[in-house]
Amino acid sequence: MPGHQSRKEVILQVQAAPYYGGIATADAVGCSFLCAYCWNYNRNLNPERFREFYSPQQVASKLLHIAKKKSFRFFRISGAEPVLGERTFQHLTDVLRLIFQSKPDSLFILETNGFFLGYRPDLLGNLQPYPNLRVRICLKGSDEESFEKITGAKRDFFRYPMIALKELERLGVRAWPALMGDLFSREEIDRLEEFLREQGIQAELEQEFLETYPFVLDNMRKRNLKFNH
Ligand code: SF4
Repeated sequence: MPGHQSRKEVILQVQAAPYYGGIATADAVGCSFLCAYCWNYNRNLNPERFREFYSPQQVASKLLHIAKKKSFRFFRISGAEPVLGERTFQHLTDVLRLIFQSKPDSLFILETNGFFLGYRPDLLGNLQPYPNLRVRICLKGSDEESFEKITGAKRDFFRYPMIALKELERLGVRAWPALMGDLFSREEIDRLEEFLREQGIQAELEQEFLETYPFVLDNMRKRNLKFNH
């Protein structure tokens, strides 16, 4: 897998989180990027120092336990990148299978940077059996230049999340792009939307907004990144 550095993923803590009106959340560690604004920057920089590895059975069992206790229907893996390579992709699909087998009416939101999914689109058919899976692909730049500045990864890799979005749409897996809206001008966002349409991607671009923790602002300053608001 190409990437700015190869990072080991160390999974997980599992918790109830307030997003989406209440969601059982498995908290991963490790990412193929190192975004300036990542709120898990230090954890993703040194993943081996944090947490334990949990098998798909352990993850699914803890998630299902939380969902039952809190009467949640939503699930997700968050905190880092859930898909770093083929083995973590297999881990994810095992978790999906176990969750949907036990609770078919669940909604599972996969939040990803889309890099590995676009690098290995041949694997994406493995997500087709799950109609209640939603894939939210967080784009890390509005173009190659901003992508490189924000992620620290090579600018050429900007295209992989687009490949993932296009292939997921072709397969009928529900997916959409998201962008940290505070970091880009209206013109840059318009240009990205146009680019997505040129790529044949139908889904609307969601805008999210940054958690401005002091260390986030500090890391952004170091990479010369500013807010537009
Ligand atoms: S892709 Fe997400 S998890 Fe990875 S470094 Fe960027 S913000 Fe953090």
